[in-house]
Amino acid sequence: VRRVGIVGCGQLAQMMAQEARPLGIEFSFLAEGDENTTCVDGLGTIAHAHEGDDIESLYRAMGSPEVITAEREQVSVALLRALEKFCPVYPRPDAFETTQHRVREKTAITAVGLPVAPFLPANNYAEICAAVQQLGYPSFIKSCEHGYDGKNQWRVNSDEDLAAISDAPEMEYVVEQGVNFSREVSLIGARTADGQVVTYPLAENDHYRGTLLVSTAPAPHVSEALQHTAEEYLAKLMSAWDYVGVLAMECFVTENGLLINELAPRVHNSGHWTLAGAETSQFANHVRAILGMPLGETHCDRPAVMINMLGVDEKPALPNEGVWSYGKELRPGRKMGHVILLDDSQEALAARIDSMLEALYGPSKRPA
Ligand code: ATP
Ligand code: MG
Ligand code: MG
Repeated sequence: VRRVGIVGCGQLAQMMAQEARPLGIEFSFLAEGDENTTCVDGLGTIAHAHEGDDIESLYRAMGSPEVITAEREQVSVALLRALEKFCPVYPRPDAFETTQHRVREKTAITAVGLPVAPFLPANNYAEICAAVQQLGYPSFIKSCEHGYDGKNQWRVNSDEDLAAISDAPEMEYVVEQGVNFSREVSLIGARTADGQVVTYPLAENDHYRGTLLVSTAPAPHVSEALQHTAEEYLAKLMSAWDYVGVLAMECFVTENGLLINELAPRVHNSGHWTLAGAETSQFANHVRAILGMPLGETHCDRPAVMINMLGVDEKPALPNEGVWSYGKELRPGRKMGHVILLDDSQEALAARIDSMLEALYGPSKRPA
């Protein structure tokens, strides 16, 4: 049997294991600190990492896997580098190091000639003000590290907004020019160490209060040319980084084409639709990629929609939907699961999104 170790025990690890176990692959999971492991209970061995652990024992406790991957962005790069002495770690630790820090990430993207919104680094409030002055309103101020689901970032539209954050603590920020986009889309692709690449159709993403709520694929409002451009961008990044595994690329669609917003070196929420909507899911292809197996077909026959269950875990009482429940303890706003709808046309699908949002969230059709 082939053994894969995953650092992290959340729903992404759960879905990787669920999707790849039928291929005869065994999994182990590494929990960092007091991380909750309920998502991966029953899916493989669970080992626990603590500060100062002997890495070789840790690797053995994971069942000496032939390759190790991670399910979250904020994984310890030092831990990944230490584990790399025993087996390959894919995506490479360098990819995590780059994408964990927004200025490093944007610098790496522009270094291969790809477009991002104009940005400036800033380390304190005075530098933030100088950067906003240069970039204009609206601007986005984001902490370089530890930001996700729109947390640790502020949109400033005016001098008043800027004054309101004058107590921003000294740390590393990036200040980005606000992008006037028509849509947000993401591209998910996978690459093997020997350079096989597959990509999925672009998904269009709608956020609510900074968290992804609905992904539709193929993105209904984009041209084939845009799909092609996105594929070129992702392939360029993956080959420049000698990337192995799934890489997700979030983009803004603007009048002047695509701008890359950010990258995630892992399977991505905007690719969950592939569980039901594509021939091979992003999870199966991630595992195939890190094991150097032939990558699976990414074609999708029918349009798909994924709706996140945020802070709700009741199975919606609507027919013909697939519900993935992660088995987590209910907490406000928490990603508890998702629903995938498939239909024959984008129009038919669009009509069902609203009813599903209402079934999940009530008349407001939005998470509490
Ligand atoms: P994620 O949960 O996707 O990792 P995040 O916290 O890392 O999110 P971003 O993706 O950088 O944050 O930003 C969150 C959302 O804020 C974006 O999807 C977009 O809607 C909006 N946004 C961010 N930066 C800009 C910008 N420069 N111009 C316009 N809108 C932006
Ligand atoms: Mg992010
Ligand atoms: Mg994002």
